Amino acid sequence: MARFSSHCPDKVVLERVTKRFRRESLPECHELCFSWGMAHRYPESAVFYRDLTRELPLITHGQGVWLYDESGKAYLDACGGAYVANLGHGVSVVADAVAEQIRKVAYVNGTAFTNAPAEALAAELQTLNPAGLTHTYFLSSGSEAVEAALKLARQHHVDSGRPSKHKIIARTPGYHGNTLLALSASAREHYKKLYGPWLVPVRMIGAPYPYRCAPDSPEMTGDVLEAAILAEGPETVSCFIAEPIGGSSTGGSVPTFAYWQRVREICDRYEVLFIADEVLTGAGRTGTWAAIEHFGVTPDIMTLGKGLSGGYVPLSAVVTSERIIDPIAKISGALKHAQTFSHTPAICAAGLAAVRHIKAHGLIARAARMGEVLQNRLSTLLELPAVGDVRGKGLLGGVELVKDKDTKVPFARSEKVAERLVKNAQDLGLVLWSNIGHADGERGDLVMVAPPFVITEEEIDTLAKRLGEAIVRTVG
Ligand code: PLP
Repeated sequence: MARFSSHCPDKVVLERVTKRFRRESLPECHELCFSWGMAHRYPESAVFYRDLTRELPLITHGQGVWLYDESGKAYLDACGGAYVANLGHGVSVVADAVAEQIRKVAYVNGTAFTNAPAEALAAELQTLNPAGLTHTYFLSSGSEAVEAALKLARQHHVDSGRPSKHKIIARTPGYHGNTLLALSASAREHYKKLYGPWLVPVRMIGAPYPYRCAPDSPEMTGDVLEAAILAEGPETVSCFIAEPIGGSSTGGSVPTFAYWQRVREICDRYEVLFIADEVLTGAGRTGTWAAIEHFGVTPDIMTLGKGLSGGYVPLSAVVTSERIIDPIAKISGALKHAQTFSHTPAICAAGLAAVRHIKAHGLIARAARMGEVLQNRLSTLLELPAVGDVRGKGLLGGVELVKDKDTKVPFARSEKVAERLVKNAQDLGLVLWSNIGHADGERGDLVMVAPPFVITEEEIDTLAKRLGEAIVRTVG
């Protein structure tokens, strides 16, 4: 028997209707139930939800930093969903560009043809990416971009006559995606546990995490990378992958300038390719196009995703230089990472319109400017007893909650502080992103903010106020 939400106007009538509709009429039944406000939860709805344990509000539209559900409730989208809605919601030039391209031609395969949006977007990205990163390979998700980047590093070495170089070094805490190679390079035990037997070994080194690491520790200086390369044998190490500024994993932790200088020097010394994973931090989020620009080094390979299309379509990219591609062009002739939807016109049209919109409206400079306001307002939360640290760069902010501020001891995992905080914030009309496990692999409660770049000072005030209220409601 179906269960119904409390706001259904007449449960008895609705139950009768559900019984009467035969199986082949289920879509109409769902439409009817939808218009009466049926619960959007498992198993009543036909959707296999990402969260099977609770009811989800149904969002009908968005504008700027705001989302509206079917009851008319407004939510401040403080993390752009999952660091995605950089331009803000409801930007019609992007929608128009996609519609126009789909009418002309929606799909051609990248093995047979190229297309105008892919050519134009790659050319636009040349003007934004760190100098030397001249060529772009388009895909649809961050995980795909990471998989392709790791394979690119391996293939570059093989085609350059260094076939023994295959090992990957990544960091903990760290996250690079949920497909199996990307997950292997991630330090998210709650995802990895189940699929452990299918994952490949990846050497993990500690990430720079100023709140919990001493300034002269090997994690903070970068020395830990050299030690790992030497322990593995430099002739076996293919690449080092890392986020230039910690995204969810270390909650917006910002390494020092010297850290990245040292990493670049180590990678060069041992012919280890440095992959900057900018899926979360790229496309202007931290106030520069790529977060690595803050540190004056250029990666060998860079990934982009999430905000690259502003969330209007799923679009990601792998960016690199002729130096990396040339051996592959000469020996293999192609990157061995074939995907049906790479380089397709519709996704590239969205990216092109989004990137041109960012440029035309000076949104990267705005992210830097409003980022200072955001960091400032977030720092006032430090007055609350459970807020251990507030950090970030540009419009990327992390708030770490701890049981004891003096000792930095995290809450017990059983208290589910981050999860309850996100739920309380949503009730208050604020959408956040949470992370757990960064303190010791299991414990640690973080909430992240990464609002659309169009956010105003007043909206930042609302964000900080609601966040403060949600924290008090959750942990006092
Ligand atoms: N890399 C980083 C740094 C990420 O934060 C994420 C997702 O959160 C990914 C890769 C994977 O991206 P996607 O979820 O689009 O596959």
